[in-house]
Amino acid sequence: MTQPQGKHIAVIGAGIVGISTAAALLKDGHRVTVIDPASPGGPHAASYGNGAFISPASILPVSQPGLWRKVPKMLADPRGALTIRWRDLPALMPWLVRFLWAGATGEKVARTARALSSLLADAPQRHADLAARAGLSDMIVQNGLLYAFRERAEYEAEAFGWGLRRDTGVAMAEIEGQALRRAAPALDPAYRFGVLINDGAHCTDPGGYVAGLADWLTGQGVVVRRDRVIGFDLCVGRLRGLRCADGNLACDLAVIAAGLASAPLAASLGDPVPLAAERGYHVELREAPFTLDIPIMPQDGKMANVTTRGGLRAAGQVELAAPDAPPNWARAEILFEHLKQSYPALSGATVSQAARWQGNRPSTPDGKPVIGRSTRSKDVVYAFGHGHIGLASAPMTAALVADLVAGRHPARDLTSFSPTRFSLRQRETR
Ligand SMILES: Cc1cc2nc3c(=O)[nH]c(=O)nc-3n(C[C@H](O)[C@H](O)[C@H](O)COP(=O)(O)OP(=O)(O)OC[C@H]3O[C@@H](n4cnc5c(N)ncnc54)[C@H](O)[C@@H]3O)c2cc1C
Repeated sequence: MTQPQGKHIAVIGAGIVGISTAAALLKDGHRVTVIDPASPGGPHAASYGNGAFISPASILPVSQPGLWRKVPKMLADPRGALTIRWRDLPALMPWLVRFLWAGATGEKVARTARALSSLLADAPQRHADLAARAGLSDMIVQNGLLYAFRERAEYEAEAFGWGLRRDTGVAMAEIEGQALRRAAPALDPAYRFGVLINDGAHCTDPGGYVAGLADWLTGQGVVVRRDRVIGFDLCVGRLRGLRCADGNLACDLAVIAAGLASAPLAASLGDPVPLAAERGYHVELREAPFTLDIPIMPQDGKMANVTTRGGLRAAGQVELAAPDAPPNWARAEILFEHLKQSYPALSGATVSQAARWQGNRPSTPDGKPVIGRSTRSKDVVYAFGHGHIGLASAPMTAALVADLVAGRHPARDLTSFSPTRFSLRQRETR
């Protein structure tokens, strides 16, 4: 067990971001308490049901030039990969406008890609190292990742995005014919082209990974407390402790890593961050007739297909809606239909055989997380808003938070992730 000597740091939220952060802070010798009202790794959190991809190629934001033209179709097409619930449109409008603006030009997208690359380039190795520390090495598999296309022309139509990936140093190989069949024998041969991300990795059980890391941390002296943080006890800009539903907690520093619930906590500290629920779904077939050695993203379905400990999982869909709106399970059925279309051996499978899940990606409009200090107190650090890449980018986020806490020069430039980038004054100076 590590003997803590440093500060007492409270990490708010036990998703993959909070738990990875706790591990980084423990490594620096701090005394760490993680606070969450729910069990780490449980299905309530985005970190449970995601696509398990740890991809250095996940650097492109969802918002891209010309997307605004597709909004009417998105509203009208209930089966598309990206939809908006009509009744939530007025409340989502301010976020949506910023979202479309953030991807309005190729230069903006390129800037975001470069920023995300700084978090993702070595994500597989960082996860492998974290898992090894915790004795969970079997949960991180560094076998590569495959993006599959029906035709090379579909890949060429995405030349801008793939060019950005190449320019930021993502190692990739184009494969066709027999090489593609060997890499993905279960995939429908109608997929005739693929891009292999050799350095990519995946997690065999994202929820179990968070739970396993939390258990290991507990064994190392980290306290995991079941409670909900409701406020901060500040005195002249210094943090004295946290106000929690079941009593207060004295601490020297706090890290807000509460996923979607981080926004009201940051707003209470004077940092209004626009955060929306990009809701997603998964279906998981326990008795699939094959396993995928390499996870696959068939580009037409825009879904991550991966063999987890629970079975064959298809995760994806972006549904912009109120976070507490009831799940629309038709979206999980769409994923299931895509699965059946992508893998001929599933032709007889029915959706009733699959487990299904819905979760909320904590998403900023510009697709970048918020990593930095609170403006009101330097004792509070933000680590939230990881949208589509929270699993992959958690270890680098954790390292950056640890740098801030230690007063070290951060290992990556944090300007792009600043919590104040959404404020009017900041935007006017750009
Ligand atoms: C369908 C889908 C597919 C995805 N696929 C991928 C993928 O392949 N690769 C990838 O990298 N990412 C993927 N993601 C994104 C990824 O899952 C998220 O970015 C990531 O899980 C966010 O982690 P988090 O720790 O910030 O939030 P969460 O996992 O949501 O955890 C937040 C925690 O904070 C706790 N909390 C909330 N309020 C409070 C409070 N007041 N006090 C204390 N605790 C609180 C919650 O109980 C929860 O446990 C996907 C997401 C979805 C939905």
